[in-house]
Amino acid sequence: MTRDELFFKPKSVYETATEAKVKEIYDFAEGYKTWLDASRTERLAVREAVKLAEKAGFKPWTPGKARKAGEKLYFVNREKALTLAVLGKKSLAEGANIAAAHVDNPRLDLKQHPLYEDGEMAYFKTHYYGGIKKYQWVTTPLALVGTVVRADGEKIDVSIGLAKGEPRFVITDLLPHLAADQMKKNAAEVIPGEGLNLLLGSRPDAETGADRVKLAVMKLLNEKYGIVEADFLSAELCAVPADEITDIGLDRSLIGGYGHDDRVCAYSELMAILETKKPEKTAVCLLVDKEEIGSEGTTGMLSASFDRFMEDLCVSQGVSLKECYAHSFCLSADVCNAFDPNFPEVSEKRNNARVNYGVGIIKFTGSRGKSGSNDASAEVVGRVRRLLDGAGVAWQMGELGKVDQGGGGTVAKFTAQRDIDTIDAGVPVLSMHAPFEVIAKADLYMTYAAVKALYAAAI
Ligand code: MN
Ligand code: MN
Repeated sequence: MTRDELFFKPKSVYETATEAKVKEIYDFAEGYKTWLDASRTERLAVREAVKLAEKAGFKPWTPGKARKAGEKLYFVNREKALTLAVLGKKSLAEGANIAAAHVDNPRLDLKQHPLYEDGEMAYFKTHYYGGIKKYQWVTTPLALVGTVVRADGEKIDVSIGLAKGEPRFVITDLLPHLAADQMKKNAAEVIPGEGLNLLLGSRPDAETGADRVKLAVMKLLNEKYGIVEADFLSAELCAVPADEITDIGLDRSLIGGYGHDDRVCAYSELMAILETKKPEKTAVCLLVDKEEIGSEGTTGMLSASFDRFMEDLCVSQGVSLKECYAHSFCLSADVCNAFDPNFPEVSEKRNNARVNYGVGIIKFTGSRGKSGSNDASAEVVGRVRRLLDGAGVAWQMGELGKVDQGGGGTVAKFTAQRDIDTIDAGVPVLSMHAPFEVIAKADLYMTYAAVKALYAAAI
């Protein structure tokens, strides 16, 4: 054999893609940018996904019905998680082909007693959600979105700062002139958690008395949404980055914006399942919540709501859920870290995923000695390798940083706990968990192509 045949040399998508393919890659990114712009929270992501699913002929799932091959179903769990399925020709006893992404992101949730006035300005107290570097969330424009359940039980959608022309919010930082003490602090302490206070306004109400700015803000909220201060007790409001999703680079090969982790994989899955018609095996697309805080709660991957949905499909075919799971295959579609030349010291170059090298397959996540990892078997990697090579999908093997540098996890271990063969696969991200993350269009496209190949697979 020749040297070239014996050695393995990963290739960038741009080394092999035709002009026509590059155009397809760039065109695909446009739909993603639009969807991501409208999907700033898990609720909004689910809502936008359902709109697309209904357009593609998916019908809401109701349990206890007979099912036929080609049937397209969707199940919204508490407005925050979505499962879509296209029933296959084969029995569920042979398993389903599943892709699982998450639609929640790091953000700043409002506390339950959020509103106060200080220094004749009004603020909201926040409590961050997910893993953030707190110093990144100051001096960046933020929007306020979410849901309020009023005392009378009525549910109100709140959204301020996303539409053009609407006011936005911000968390202020200290001027460098007076930051001598601050600059000596450890980066984790530069902005303390209790310092993430959202600036809401400064104009006092005409009434006399205390807290006139707070009163003016509350009056504006009441006018717009019919809410009073006590309604914050039963609210899920959060501050999210308000800037629009945009191309990055002179060549427009990258996309910058809030929420790529993990809505980039969610969109890839969604597009793949919307285009799936009469698959051999039942295709399942999972968009779950709460991954960033451990997949807990009724809408996270640990919830039995997924099993409830799958069990109903199994019962309609007289198949046991456990039998189905044991023969199923899952791509845990979550982002991985892209090698960043600005921070080469945290990665091991030979093994880290790179921008433009296609969907990143991650055999294991976890930390230290692979602790907390799914660690897919050689057989599972072999299966995904044949699947992607067979479909001409550009893919690469990655790992989450060099040994002992840190670590992390995905939903992979929670699907694996259900006896489903699982492997992580997703888009490499620069500046992951920052208010403005960056991904490559080529990797987005290849992740979509990977899920599409999975749904088309007969094995
Ligand atoms: Mn993720
Ligand atoms: Mn994450």
